[in-house]
Formats: sequence, structure tokens, C-alpha cells
Amino acid sequence: MDSPIPDYLHEVLSACGADTSGAVADYIPELAQVDPDRLGVALTTVDGAVYEAGDCESRFTIQSISKPFVYALALQQRGLEAVLDQVDVEPSGEAFNELSLEKGSGRPLNPMINAGAIVVHTMLGDPGDPQGRCDQVLAGLSAFAGRPLDVDEAAYGSETATAFRNYAIANMLRSRDSITEDPEDVVAAYTRQCSVRVSTRDLALMAATLANGGVHPVSEEQVVEEWVARQVMSVMATCGMYDSAGDWISTVGFPAKSGVSGGIIGALPGQLGIAAFSPRLDPHGSSVRGVEVCRHLSADMGLHMMDAPQPVRATIRRMHTVQQVDGSAAKVFSLHGSLQFAGTERLVRDLAEADAAGQLSDAVVLDLTRVHSINAVARRMLLETVRRLSVEGCSVTVVDPESTLPDPDCGDGLRPTVVGTVAEAAALGGG
Ligand code: GLU
Repeated sequence: MDSPIPDYLHEVLSACGADTSGAVADYIPELAQVDPDRLGVALTTVDGAVYEAGDCESRFTIQSISKPFVYALALQQRGLEAVLDQVDVEPSGEAFNELSLEKGSGRPLNPMINAGAIVVHTMLGDPGDPQGRCDQVLAGLSAFAGRPLDVDEAAYGSETATAFRNYAIANMLRSRDSITEDPEDVVAAYTRQCSVRVSTRDLALMAATLANGGVHPVSEEQVVEEWVARQVMSVMATCGMYDSAGDWISTVGFPAKSGVSGGIIGALPGQLGIAAFSPRLDPHGSSVRGVEVCRHLSADMGLHMMDAPQPVRATIRRMHTVQQVDGSAAKVFSLHGSLQFAGTERLVRDLAEADAAGQLSDAVVLDLTRVHSINAVARRMLLETVRRLSVEGCSVTVVDPESTLPDPDCGDGLRPTVVGTVAEAAALGGG
């Protein structure tokens, strides 16, 4: 059987392909030369499956899509405090190349607009070593892509010759000591960052590395730590789409970043990296058809972050009573899925209510056979509940054949009995 997903992606491209509105960026002369009809989409799951349709192999310059990744590298190298000290994380609601700084602090508003991205770029490597910095950027972007990338020298030359706006921004930053090197050198090095060549497939893998907590889904290299990936995706969610960020997050609903060469990425934490490419841009500087492709994917695949998750009561699959060897009854709570705060709260509430109503027998069995993950807060809540029930004289047995509950230690030397099946739990009762 062939997977239906590539066919679905082809359908999405057919649905979006007819729209020829917008215009290629021409403020960088080399970008005006590209074939405006190119169109591709790629999806990568966090375990490394890649699905593509259309033109996913041809190369284009990464442009502003480099910003979240270089922000990640700077966070990893300098730490959150040091980076926040230089560049804030507030949406600007302005165009990508606005000459603006935050009132009061004088910091660029966020790392996704050029002013912030230029400062972040200078935070990598040793001060006064633009070549070393460019090498680090190229190596870092390559690690995110999982293959060695290179620089499009023609695009680089073309942009440095016409980067008047970025020179203005860099001079503004230099006048406030937000950067300390020669503004021309800084713009040249930042422009090399923007001129790194990628394919749509590369971008999907780069986005999937963020979605996968900083670990490349194929090479399995930990490119940045998990907290870095979270920080970057948060800023992409609020600032990645410049002056259309609010519309984007309410309609498409996942962290994204676009670039003026026509690329766009989306990162769904724990699920997917998405990339689309089509060179004609809307007035915000984002790919017209790339945005449309993302809208389709979000609607069809239920990718909006704010879509209501499964009702939490679904955490408790079944409640029943089993007879133990001594003839007394034990109440069994069979749980399933992934235990997080809300689902565990529901379990704790049901247990507390049953206890208050005198409906809880002296033996409780928590059956985790169908639970596949338990996050830190759910673990603490479960173990504290076990501790409280035990203190009240209730015997609690945990059925956990796969050891999904790590280190079942309730504190004070108290540990619940852990067994592999409900039958084993019943066999223990009263015995
Ligand atoms: N190199 C471009 C610039 O700085 C990137 C802008 C973008 O892709 O939005 O003007």
C-alpha cells in the first residue's frame, strides 16, 4: 500500500497552484531572477519520515528563515538572560525591516525583525571575528538541516550591494552600542547568513528539529537543548509573521517563519516540521501560495495549537471492581493515553469524591497498562495521591507492566506495590 499522504500534498498544491497573485521580492536584484512559478511542500515527522510534493529539491536562499535558527544558536551559546538583555520577545506589529527599537530599553523588539536578527547574529562566536561567526552560522544551520549547506555567492553579492535599509538599521544599532563592530561588516556577515542555500526539504527537516525538542529527526544530533527549541517556537508563534502575526496565529495556529525568497516554515511541537516554497510574496513579505498551503494543512490536518484537545475525562478508560483473594473488593481505575495535569486532576478528583462518599474500598488499583507517557506534574500528583490514600489506610497497587511511571517513590520511604497485571494485583489483596 502507498501512503495517502503524498497524494494529499499533491492535492493541496493543486488547490493552491492557480493563485498567481503577489510579486517576487526585487529589492534584492538576484531574487527578482527566480522562476516565480516554483511551488513545493514538505512535511517531516519528529521521527524522521519525510513527505514531499512539487518542487522540494531546488535551492533558494534561506533569508529570514535563518533568524529563528540563529536565535537558537545564540540562546544555546549565551543563555536566555544574556540574549534577552540585548533583544526582547515582544511582537512589533511592524514590517520586517522597520527602523525601530523598544521605547525605554532601546532593545530591538524581537529577534525575527531585522534589527533583532542583526544583534542576535553578532552574539555568536568571538566579538570582532565576522569570519568565525559566519562559519559558526553555516555549521549551525547545517546541523539543523542534517547536511552541509553552502552560501549562494551571487545572492550574497547582490544583497550586500543593495542592503541600504539594513545598513541604516546597523548604524542605528551601532549608535546605541547594541552592536560594537563596524556596521558594514556586520551587515555583510548577516547577509551571508541570509544567503545560505536550502531546499524545501531542508527547511522541513530544520523545522522538525525544533518541533522535536532540538534533536534532528534523522541524524539524531541534539543541535540545541529542549528549552531553546521551546523559546524559539514561542517567539515564532508571536513574532514570526511580522505584521500579520496575529492573523496568522488565530487562523493557521502554529509557530511559523517566512522569508523574502518565498520559503515558509511551521513547527508543531512534538509532531511535525512543515515547509512550503513559492516565490511570489504578499504585502507582508510572505509567500502568497506558501501561506495558502499552510492554511490548507492546518485546516485539513487539525494543526491549530488552540484546537480543544480530547476531553480530559477520557484519561479514565474504565472503573470497575475486582474481588481479591481474601474476598474483599478492590476498586480498579484503568487509565489510558498520555497523563498530564488535566487528566490526572480528573483521576485525583474522582478518587477524592469517591473517598468522601465512602465509596472507596480499602484497596485501590491504578491500572497504567494503557498509559504511554506520564509527564512530571502527573507523576508528582499520582504519587502524592498514592501517599495520601496509604496514610488513610488504603492499600494502593499500581499495575505498570512497561514501567511507565518512573521511580514510584512517594517520599518518606513509601512506595506503592507495582505489579504487571490486574489479576496479580487482585491476588495480592488481603493476602
Ligand atoms: N535578507 C533579507 C533582509 O534582511 C531577509 C528579509 C526576509 O526574508 O524577510 O532584508
